[in-house]
Amino acid sequence: PATGTPLIQVAQAVKRFGGLRAVDEVSFELRAGEILGLIGPNGAGKSTMFNLLTGVSPATSGRVTLLGQDITGRSAAQIHRLGVSRTFQHVKVLPELTLLENTMMGGYARAHAGLLRSMLHLERREEAALQHEALRQLERVGLGEQAGQLAGNLPLGQQRILEVARALVADPALLLLDEPAAGLRYGEKTALSALLRRLRDEGVTILIVEHDMDLVMSLVDRLVVMSSGQKLAEGTPDEVRGNPAVREAYLGV
Ligand code: ADP
Ligand code: MG
Repeated sequence: PATGTPLIQVAQAVKRFGGLRAVDEVSFELRAGEILGLIGPNGAGKSTMFNLLTGVSPATSGRVTLLGQDITGRSAAQIHRLGVSRTFQHVKVLPELTLLENTMMGGYARAHAGLLRSMLHLERREEAALQHEALRQLERVGLGEQAGQLAGNLPLGQQRILEVARALVADPALLLLDEPAAGLRYGEKTALSALLRRLRDEGVTILIVEHDMDLVMSLVDRLVVMSSGQKLAEGTPDEVRGNPAVREAYLGV
């Protein structure tokens, strides 16, 4: 789709947990070719929103559309097949597997539901194609030379980049990242940032949930700010930085 076309539209999304509205009537759109940041204090509803977008947990009401197609209530596997790929905040790389094997897992997840079953049943021809694709994505993120090494031996910053490679298998139109910079050193954050910008310039649309304000402000094209389940503000980093409600609720100043 042309740059600026809405890829994902969220309309009046609500997610309730009992009496709590973890997401409370939130609307925004993610446009083709942009990096959109989703920020807000702890408990704001960011992860819940992320789960609505990826089909991990359905909205109580409201609607999520992907390129005009209603995906509200679709399963994570279905949404993945439509070209939405994600990294997980707590599911990290498998340290005992090589970089190549880790990256190939992004393809098993896409092709089939049961990971172990699909690893066992993958045909030779499919496996060769997947291996080729995984290597291509490792090269794309700059980890091609280490493809045969064990993931556990990589520094944390490169493990995060490996997670991006895994999510990139089969060229998703949309990449959703859940706190990819958590725990990284400054230099590692800069490297991750540079990679994400390059992917954006190659046509990958990116949504990033991130705590590190400096990283977010220097990386994203636009921001959605959430607080207590609601959308507090939306705009460019400059617009959001100057918003009094955001300063009060999020920055505490
Ligand atoms: P954030 O990611 O912005 O820190 P979350 O989306 O994780 O916020 O949580 C938003 C609110 O919803 C919090 O009050 C949290 O305790 C609550 N919440 C999140 N997930 C669940 C759940 N599965 N069951 C009950 N409450 C939840
Ligand atoms: Mg969270």
